[in-house]
Amino acid sequence: MRVARFVRIRRPWRNWDITALRRNLGVYVHIPFCPAICSYCDFLKFGPRRPKGLDEASYESSLLREIEARGAWLKEMLKGTGRRVDSIFIGGGTPTMLPAEDLSKLGRALVDCFPTAGGAIEFSCEANPDTLDPEKLQALHEAGVNRISIGVQSCNDRLLKFMGRTHRWEQTEPILQMVSEGPIRNFSFDLIYGLPNQNVGTLLDSGRRLLEFRPPHFSAYWLVPEPHTAYTRWARRYPTQIPSDREVLYQQHAVECLLRGYGHYRYEVNNYAKPGYESMHNIRYWQGGDYIGLGLGSASRIGSEVVSNPKSHIAWNNALGEIGSENDPLHRAMQERGAAESAPSADSFLQLRNRLGHELVGLQVNPKWISDGLMEVHDGRLEVRSRGLNLSEQYALELESASESPV
Ligand code: SF4
Repeated sequence: MRVARFVRIRRPWRNWDITALRRNLGVYVHIPFCPAICSYCDFLKFGPRRPKGLDEASYESSLLREIEARGAWLKEMLKGTGRRVDSIFIGGGTPTMLPAEDLSKLGRALVDCFPTAGGAIEFSCEANPDTLDPEKLQALHEAGVNRISIGVQSCNDRLLKFMGRTHRWEQTEPILQMVSEGPIRNFSFDLIYGLPNQNVGTLLDSGRRLLEFRPPHFSAYWLVPEPHTAYTRWARRYPTQIPSDREVLYQQHAVECLLRGYGHYRYEVNNYAKPGYESMHNIRYWQGGDYIGLGLGSASRIGSEVVSNPKSHIAWNNALGEIGSENDPLHRAMQERGAAESAPSADSFLQLRNRLGHELVGLQVNPKWISDGLMEVHDGRLEVRSRGLNLSEQYALELESASESPV
């Protein structure tokens, strides 16, 4: 049996390059196809039943058109500004529903068309265990992907079935083995807790099985019923089956302790990593950096302006012809803000979700947050300690009302 070692980690978030996160941009690409619809999912996705005229081939061809047009537009906008794209994230849906050859084409187009200025990029792709194989993993690696995130969610077949996931542990284990021995050295697994009939024992059993593969990054999500999902309808029918907040917080604490033993620290509400393996693309999102969204329904943020692509594939296709024109909301947002400007900081709720926290400037900090050990002040920032992360929403509300109250 492998014995977990407790590792002392010295505030790795102070090494994050916040200047680059705000100066440079990220690109997000949405692939909305899934083998089946999970009971709890409220993302924009399509299972086997899709709107008429929407299939993988037509979607990819529109996406490649958008990549070329948006990439050329961004190159032009950023010319001479010293800004560049330094993170790309292909998410979904299930990106690995696409064949290896198409994943390769997509990855290469992203790297070629967007202004990376030949510098280092963090290039992530999401995958599900039953749609990944050696050929796709190799294709992603060769296209430049250097971070892969696998939606395992649980190692317990009963819970996987309850969630409507299409994979089972027997087929997942060899895939995780392949990933752990594969060419993409930054890999992450997702785990869900707070499920009905899940207890600390079953949760830790899943966590331990996954950690045997030594992922340098790990995401653990509390399953909260979202409106209009099958899980929410089920939860309304059987409310006593839903674990209490107290039980779920206990599960969350158990996962954090387990991960600590493997050298991971909690750097965001739902994310844990070994120092140096944090997702910079996501940190940019929480810290207010700019990003460009591609694909159906994808959101982009330029400063405080958030604009989204249409959710209908027909409207999205029509909008592709407008990229870079005055009818393009992203173009207008970039012109209004000024393409050379670094992004401002995000709103308090997002900033307080991660350990780097909030700039102190203009903040009325409640001294109790510090004295209770939930936060600490360092180098002009209000940093969030691990046990303070769950309260980000509460702090943000307090900060908001403090800044609104008359002095
Ligand atoms: S695989 Fe992910 S995106 Fe697809 S239905 Fe399940 S949770 Fe939603």
